Amino acid sequence: MFDVIVVGAGPAGLTAALYTGRSKLKTKILEKSGIGGQLLLTDAIENYPGIYQMKSNIWVESAQKQLHDLKEVEIQEDAEVEKIEEKDGFFRVFFFSEGSALKATADTKSVIVATGAVPKRLGIKGEESLTGRGISTCATCDGPLFKDKEIAVIGGGDTAIEETLYLRKFAKKVTVIHRRDALRATALLQERVMKDPGISFKWNSVPLEVIGKARVEGLKIKNTSNNAEEVVPCEGVFVFIGIAPDTDFLKGFLDLNKDGYVVTDEIMMSSYEGIFACGDCRARPFKQVVTACGEGAIAAYSAAKFLEDKI
Ligand code: NAP
Repeated sequence: MFDVIVVGAGPAGLTAALYTGRSKLKTKILEKSGIGGQLLLTDAIENYPGIYQMKSNIWVESAQKQLHDLKEVEIQEDAEVEKIEEKDGFFRVFFFSEGSALKATADTKSVIVATGAVPKRLGIKGEESLTGRGISTCATCDGPLFKDKEIAVIGGGDTAIEETLYLRKFAKKVTVIHRRDALRATALLQERVMKDPGISFKWNSVPLEVIGKARVEGLKIKNTSNNAEEVVPCEGVFVFIGIAPDTDFLKGFLDLNKDGYVVTDEIMMSSYEGIFACGDCRARPFKQVVTACGEGAIAAYSAAKFLEDKI
């Protein structure tokens, strides 16, 4: 019987486990893919107070090392949670392990959901067949494949602009396709992206189709002000149009908002007493590594308080 099961090992889950472990609570982390969550999709962190600049993988390695020092915390990778049930005053977590080959359960007195979010898809022609053949949602994974090539980036938020700047380390030209005439990204990122002559913009433009047979050859877009269509020649298309919470397994069990994010109170308690949520899967407007970590710490504190009050 665990005191706490943390579902997800991104910044929120790693922080939650750090705090529950340091409180001597028997903690298990279940992670379905890679430790680090969405941080694995980005190159570096530069807005975490006290850390001037750090490669994302180094941040993840350091957080993991902190957990390895705590004998109360164990991490199980390749463990995808299927459902959670309450049973005689405790929770039973059902999960698949070893690439869905095995079904397993673990019992716990409380749960912290930190499953984060996954990149949204466009749903346009050519997207499915050319994913992995020039279409990507991960600049750090695939950017180096586009050395001296022309690529397109779709989106105007922090992710799109941060990754555009990163992709310019490789690509000779990046065209940013944005559906409005102003970016959503942080002002500092906007300033940087506007200075680079290798980056151009197609404003008020939406993607219609990714062109290509075996690999991406271009992106058909439409200008929404005059309905003119054109094909932007490119060998890569990077899609950064926002994220969707990874919470399908909680439908019908916890209160989720209309977009699927977990609704909590200010101490991170969900609609189910004893189940807490933190990070990008939680309903709130501002998503940063620093806020995910802050919420992870609060969720851990609240879980500890919940267990203390229960005894
Ligand atoms: P986001 O802020 O939701 O931005 C998504 C962008 O894609 C917006 O520009 C949006 O256009 C556009 N878009 C949405 N749906 C589209 C569609 N179907 N077709 C074309 N364009 C579409 O998402 P994000 O950039 O992934 O960021 C997610 C969260 O993480 C945000 O809170 C962000 O601040 C945070 N984040 C922070 C950092 C950092 O601090 N360094 C880095 C990355 C992400 P509109 O602008 O017209 O809505």
